[in-house]
Amino acid sequence: MADQAYTLPIPVADEASQEFFDGAREGKLMLLRCTQCQRYRLPGRELCSDCWSTDTEWAQATGRGKLYTFGIMHQKYHPAFADMTPYNYALVELDEGPRLVTNIVECDDDDLRTDMPVEAVFDAVSDEATLIRFRPSE
Ligand SMILES: [Zn+2]
Repeated sequence: MADQAYTLPIPVADEASQEFFDGAREGKLMLLRCTQCQRYRLPGRELCSDCWSTDTEWAQATGRGKLYTFGIMHQKYHPAFADMTPYNYALVELDEGPRLVTNIVECDDDDLRTDMPVEAVFDAVSDEATLIRFRPSE
């Protein structure tokens, strides 16, 4: 997608999520892992939801998961999306557990099914930003 100007809003990394977005640029899906109980979580959550520990390390996820739920957006809530509706938005449950808000690509919206296996694709939308989307997998 980098061959044409990307005009949609791009997430801005903060201190808590910098490693996540840096990883995406390198083709890695990075998660926080609790060093006490090994449970994974997304950046932005200070405490482990299992053991309440704040001790974490960054760990590379497999990039595999399943489509937990999805919707098809018809409403144009932001002018930048006016030319692309309808489009899908999805919640993917990673094999490691956390659920990530994303889009499913390389699949017609009519073919989306909950629980379908998916894998991460790294969409470099600009020199600075790579978005993690998912496509069907075996
Ligand atoms: Zn924990």
